[in-house]
Amino acid sequence: MGSVLHTVAIVGLGLIGSSIARGARTYGLAERVVAVDRDEAVLERVRALGIADLVTAGFAEGVAEADLVILCVPVGAIGAVAAELAPHLKPGAILSDVGSVKGSVVAAATPYLKPENPFVPAHPVAGTEYSGPDSGFATLFQNRWCILTPPEGVDPQAVSTVTAFWEGLGAIVETMTSEHHDLVLAITSHVPHLIAYNIVGTAADLETVTQSEVIKFSAGGFRDFTRIAASDPTMWRDVFLANKDAVLEMLGRFNEDLSALTKAIRWGDGDTLFNLFTRTRAIRKGIVAMGQETAEPDFGRSRSDTKTN
Ligand code: NAP
Repeated sequence: MGSVLHTVAIVGLGLIGSSIARGARTYGLAERVVAVDRDEAVLERVRALGIADLVTAGFAEGVAEADLVILCVPVGAIGAVAAELAPHLKPGAILSDVGSVKGSVVAAATPYLKPENPFVPAHPVAGTEYSGPDSGFATLFQNRWCILTPPEGVDPQAVSTVTAFWEGLGAIVETMTSEHHDLVLAITSHVPHLIAYNIVGTAADLETVTQSEVIKFSAGGFRDFTRIAASDPTMWRDVFLANKDAVLEMLGRFNEDLSALTKAIRWGDGDTLFNLFTRTRAIRKGIVAMGQETAEPDFGRSRSDTKTN
């Protein structure tokens, strides 16, 4: 990356925030890393982990010196957090975030910002089903996409700084509008999570199948859904509330395609099923070819992983 930042402040030290803090240290992206969180238990863990130079519950103190402030709180909290810290940003300080939805975040945070503080929203497309400061790791963003959605007219230098920061964390940066981001992520991330939450919920509610059978016979497809359905409830509640329109649009299409598949099964139309399954297999190969997934059987799980999962 280009020049090293003097101070980066991370607000919200969960999975993503603590991974950024660790990465900023590991890859030497800032001389000083400041951790800001409202939760005393989180701050205690961050101190014990030693991943920041200053650890504080005070927004004013935490962001005062920062050149770059990254909000890593749930999407529904970003507006309120931006309102609280905006008056304390120094002139020229850049505000960014990592929210999984962009349109509503931009709308919620922008009104509180002074013109001398450019806002460069970001979304690292990387994560796990775990939460909290202990779950983060420095390499989380290596070879993963980070999408920036800079609003029209924002200082290009600020966009370059945020781009360089994410590249320093190992991410591949792509830029698009927040509207486009929300539509793309609705189908690639948000609807799949909803399907996982739904299928695991349906299985758990089945009266003819006991809970222990669901767990015992969870090989193959179902087990992978349970991993996704173990994702943070607060984060995902906020995602669906914040990206309502795009998710409803994609769910409409999904339901139509599901009806077509239902019909094919009902009428014994094997060609329709076979043709779709062939097309989808090619998509999987494309993802593996781009280095975003392993081609190893069973998602590269080791035998010991398989046993404990
Ligand atoms: P997380 O592990 O649950 O951490 C969130 C942190 O924000 C916690 O320390 C939490 O403190 C704090 N927080 C929650 N509400 C707050 C509020 N109102 N004011 C101040 N702090 C608050 O969550 P995460 O997975 O890192 O997600 C953080 C952001 O990253 C979200 O916007 C999410 O959409 C985005 N993101 C997540 C993933 C993923 O896979 N997890 C991937 C890409 C982007 P408490 O302990 O008090 O709740």
